[in-house]
Amino acid sequence: MRKLILVLIIFIGATACKTNPFTGQKVLNFYGNKQIFPMAFAQYDQFLTENAVVTNTAESKMITRVGQRISSAAERWLTANGYPGYLKDYKWEYNLVKDETVNAWCMPGGKIVFYTGILPITQQETGVAVVMGHEVAHALADHGAQRMSAGTLQQLGAVAGNVAIKDPQKRNMFNQAYGLGSTLGIMLPFSRSHETEADRIGLQIMAIAGYNPDEGAELWKRMKAKSGGQAPPEFMSTHPSNDTRISNLTQWAPLAKKEAAKFGVTSFQ
Ligand SMILES: [Zn+2]
Repeated sequence: MRKLILVLIIFIGATACKTNPFTGQKVLNFYGNKQIFPMAFAQYDQFLTENAVVTNTAESKMITRVGQRISSAAERWLTANGYPGYLKDYKWEYNLVKDETVNAWCMPGGKIVFYTGILPITQQETGVAVVMGHEVAHALADHGAQRMSAGTLQQLGAVAGNVAIKDPQKRNMFNQAYGLGSTLGIMLPFSRSHETEADRIGLQIMAIAGYNPDEGAELWKRMKAKSGGQAPPEFMSTHPSNDTRISNLTQWAPLAKKEAAKFGVTSFQ
């Protein structure tokens, strides 16, 4: 019986891999957009009703503007690289909420929230584009869905023989994967490799959108200064050390500019 379950898990794992368009690597993901997005959209709407959404200010308009430029850059990149229609189920939305937490996130399907607490660190539009590119990259690379899939495999292993993942269980795993539920809107940290991947992809997308990728390293220097040896701000309580992150971003900025040049973008804001 044990063996059978193991074989089954390997089988599911092997057949449930999707190719990540940004890395070309196969990753474990057996949740399609059609399963994940409705849950994400519902959680997002609930979050907005429970938090103070800022509308019609210069800042809230900036968040929307940056979001639109970043998502359309992502669309151009995906189409040019053989993934037209990759974003067809996305319903992009960009909101600013009044909250002093240093944080921003993007739920599956393009549902984005910036907290006013991160604006002193982003400082201006290009800084917002760094954070936006990073968060959008997590969503495009299905990092949350991968975490949810890993959770499912664990559960399959633990619940011997009970292969059917029923709806309430699926919702539970969604909440675990995204850190939602009792602490709505607080996203769990992603793994180190997912963070690094989001940094690299985010930098490319922002450059294609016409934002200067040199700002990536600058933003993380400000983030590092803000942490000042104490508990790090929410947004950066993830694994790559600041120094690794800053040196990666410095190295990748010229590559991001090269990528942008393929799209005719050679000057940056
Ligand atoms: Zn991240």
